[in-house]
Amino acid sequence: MNISNLLNKEHFSKEELVQLLSCEGDEKTKIFEKAAEVKAKYVGKKVYFRGLIEMSNLCRKNCLYCGIRAGNTNVHRYDLTDEEVVEAAKFAWENRYGSIAIQTGEVNTTDFVERIENLLDKINQATNHELGITLSLGEQTEETYRRWFNKGAIRYLLRIEASNRELYAKLHPNDKHHDFDARVECLKNLRKVGYQVGTGVMIGLPFQTLEHLAEDLLWMQEIDVDMVGMGPYIEHPDTPLFQHKDTLLPINERFNLALKMTALLRIIMKDINIAAPTALQAIDPLGREKAIKVGANVVMPNITPGAYRNDYKLYENKPCIDDAADDCKNCLEARIQLTGDEIGYGEQGNSKHFCQR
Ligand code: SAM
Ligand code: SF4
Repeated sequence: MNISNLLNKEHFSKEELVQLLSCEGDEKTKIFEKAAEVKAKYVGKKVYFRGLIEMSNLCRKNCLYCGIRAGNTNVHRYDLTDEEVVEAAKFAWENRYGSIAIQTGEVNTTDFVERIENLLDKINQATNHELGITLSLGEQTEETYRRWFNKGAIRYLLRIEASNRELYAKLHPNDKHHDFDARVECLKNLRKVGYQVGTGVMIGLPFQTLEHLAEDLLWMQEIDVDMVGMGPYIEHPDTPLFQHKDTLLPINERFNLALKMTALLRIIMKDINIAAPTALQAIDPLGREKAIKVGANVVMPNITPGAYRNDYKLYENKPCIDDAADDCKNCLEARIQLTGDEIGYGEQGNSKHFCQR
């Protein structure tokens, strides 16, 4: 089937998505145009900010791709104080970001669970309960998710990383801390508790095929996610997966695939929130803006205090490491204006898909 006819379909098979993911040139342009059209119609030409606070790089896990995995002894470990997190949240609020996202490695001690509860109280008090709070704190029990939800967190981001269980197994150590089914169960629990549920995958991983990526798109549709953050895999020299670097697609092709994945996701899940990931900007300084043009409607400006950013290195060449939060805000604002989209200042920008459930 030719691409224009294919793009007018309501449902896509895995084979059709593989065909679309293979498109280049004029055909790729048609996909991007369709995604922009769907975005404008279903979620509007508007971009929402989530001020990203990388609260700590302490992690109990050992995902084979991640620079802050527990086994990497070259990392200087840090943990922001509550005051530093609240200050960053206040910065977001004062600058009318509408939302924040708090991210850490995975820690699940009783102290940590309580600390987050108290921290949510402190943030809400300092910001007049006006910020939409997203958490991305890894796999936790249903009870923990409920406790944080009851303290005002409304969204949770937990990427499945790869929805194909054989591929997932190749990216994680073979032990009970890295279990595909447990991660899926967490996503179900988050939905049960009442969060806007976000997931996502990495694109351009070793061993990954276009069939895997097509499966990822269909999987996200099947579990009916409210929001997605997905981006290119970028190798880190202090990780076990680095040994496969010679098998990877060139970085510009991973970038290209990530844009096509974003566009196709917008086409098949019209009213969800899709983040333009920082990893795109690591490859192309205008990477996030390119994603906005083909369907993304959320960006996550980094508002972590500058002194710590260098220690939250998931991959090489992470952008904005040396910028203060303010610099990031100003450069981002100018860049988004260039895409023709408006910034939803002061709005939480909740997932339309979630609100219309
Ligand atoms: N620890 C939590 C978790 O794993 O869900 C949240 C923080 S974790 C650092 C956030 C995301 O970083 C992961 O979901 C993963 O997709 C991404 N990430 C880790 N290493 C990466 C790499 N080398 N390239 C691209 N993304 C990476
Ligand atoms: Fe830890 Fe998350 Fe990195 Fe895995 S991806 S090692 S859980 S920080």
